[in-house]
Amino acid sequence: MARYTGPVCRLCRREKTKLYLKGAKCDTMRCPVERRPNPPGEHGRDRLRQGSEYLTQLREKQKTRRIYGVLERPFLNTYEEANRQSGITGENLLRMLELRLDNIVFRAGWGASRNQARQLARHGHVKVNGKRVSIPSYRVRQNDVIELSEKARDFIVIRHNRDILDRRPPAWLEVQEGGDAVRVLAVPVRDQIDTLVREQLVVELYSK
Ligand code: SF4
Repeated sequence: MARYTGPVCRLCRREKTKLYLKGAKCDTMRCPVERRPNPPGEHGRDRLRQGSEYLTQLREKQKTRRIYGVLERPFLNTYEEANRQSGITGENLLRMLELRLDNIVFRAGWGASRNQARQLARHGHVKVNGKRVSIPSYRVRQNDVIELSEKARDFIVIRHNRDILDRRPPAWLEVQEGGDAVRVLAVPVRDQIDTLVREQLVVELYSK
């Protein structure tokens, strides 16, 4: 399965904002966005100027894609599916991204970042309704129970993430088994998704 393997802090600097792709480091002064706010590259400072409407939409799309760690083609497929559904396309898109298995592992506080959450899922450390699922893009549904495998419950990295980072799962996830499992109470509505993106700009870009 293809994935981005380059330097992730560079992605944040390109979007000129924190995308929180590295876990604990993101909240410290070691974060490159804090120290070097201009976009990367020799001509990074030149990119600080205001761009066109198209550029604004493009950057918002890239930002959304990068936050959730989805490559271009699968992201477009998700958008097209969101567009076919009834309701507001931008909200449908965000909801579908939130319901990805790797995002659930991140939201449950087991992974410090979505990258780490994706690795946990891919290595088969997560079960959905009692069955092992190793596809990070797997979309969970309402009432699904997502749990750590028996082996993963003792992982130091997961214990560290849960105890030290102490991130609270969102209201649409019910914590079970002392934090080793979560149940999807309901699919999230826009107000319950704290991702700082303007999804309408993504819709406008793809609607051209
Ligand atoms: Fe982005 Fe985190 Fe790197 Fe800062 S430390 S640039 S927020 S990935």
